[in-house]
Amino acid sequence: MDSAILKPGKDKAVRNRHHWIFSGAVARLPDIDDGDILAVRSADGEHLGYAYFNRRSSIAGRMISFGKTLPEDAIRESLGQALALRKAFFDPAVTNARRLVNAEGDALPGLVADLYDDVLVVQIATRGMDKLKPLLLEILVETVKPRTVYEKSDLPARREEGLEEFEGLLYGDRAGADQVDILENGLPFRVRPSRSQKTGFYLDQREMRGLVRRLAKGRRVLNAFSYTGAFTVCALKGGAARADSVDSSEAALGLAEENLELNGLPSSSGYFIAADVFEFLRSPDLDYDFIILDPPAFAKKRTDVVQACRGYKDINRLAVQRVRPGGLVLTFSCSHFIEAALFRQVVFQASLEAGRRVRILQEHRQAADHPVNVYHPETAYLKGLLLYVD
Ligand code: SAH
Repeated sequence: MDSAILKPGKDKAVRNRHHWIFSGAVARLPDIDDGDILAVRSADGEHLGYAYFNRRSSIAGRMISFGKTLPEDAIRESLGQALALRKAFFDPAVTNARRLVNAEGDALPGLVADLYDDVLVVQIATRGMDKLKPLLLEILVETVKPRTVYEKSDLPARREEGLEEFEGLLYGDRAGADQVDILENGLPFRVRPSRSQKTGFYLDQREMRGLVRRLAKGRRVLNAFSYTGAFTVCALKGGAARADSVDSSEAALGLAEENLELNGLPSSSGYFIAADVFEFLRSPDLDYDFIILDPPAFAKKRTDVVQACRGYKDINRLAVQRVRPGGLVLTFSCSHFIEAALFRQVVFQASLEAGRRVRILQEHRQAADHPVNVYHPETAYLKGLLLYVD
């Protein structure tokens, strides 16, 4: 196999098992088709592993094997280990929806695979992974035995890789892609992979939904950025006095109402409000004593960080200002560009401007089926703070 040669001194990241090789670190790249796999060598010729390469991307290479394990064996091994981790931590009788593959978090850059009961939804971000699709499909069908495999690669970031957005059935029963009911912590939720955001459901908040259920008793809850109402259902199941859902997507709110019904909750348990959260939080007469803020990633690239912090500060200031005394604010950022320390800084500034006494009761991160790769810190993206406001 041909090799890519790294520049002198530019092999440290790979030696530290980081998956990305930036274009500036590459001294020599043989003539390849974008997405092809190459051996990776240091400037003095030492073999470091295998990566797939794409000249168009600023991340020229992504490692799939560190060491001698051949690419296909490495993919099989990483998939096997990813599935073993989920088997160890999830009881399908209680939670049958989980992320099986979390990209670099599972040493499989460019690949996300979410299982909704027996419906597997995959998301491919890179040309290298796209080329490996037949192999991935073969292994996943054989080991997971799903009813449906649906690809939902509607990622604008694919453009940088020279890939169009793509969505379609890869295997099995098409109906599974349109609708599937799942169980999370024993509660049913409806997912519509083909018609929703991401792969269909925000599995990374599973543990936080358990927390909301435990804390909601007797409280008036606002689920801001509610998507399909998963936090709303959990708050009501936990005995909330009322739980309102606010989202800009009418389709998401429609499914939120279905999710209440699926859980035997009357639709009068709260309002479903199609609105911009930034405006909604400014409306008069808010009387919530538990506000959940789970916005989309405001910073999608590093250059967005300053603007994103303004957005996070804005909603957090409003929530802290408006929540009733003795109230809770559960606030998140899911952008990996906003590091935990920066997010705390934003919440500090927001609290200061709101002029309330604010205490952090708990800190949170993504659920365990979204593991963080210690060698690849970018895999840590979700941060949450549970605030108590006097
Ligand atoms: N908490 C949800 C996931 C939230 S995803 C869950 O647990 O399932 C973020 C949501 O924010 C999306 O549903 C998106 O439609 C919504 N959204 C994005 N910008 C918004 C805005 N300015 N106002 C209201 N909703 C917004």
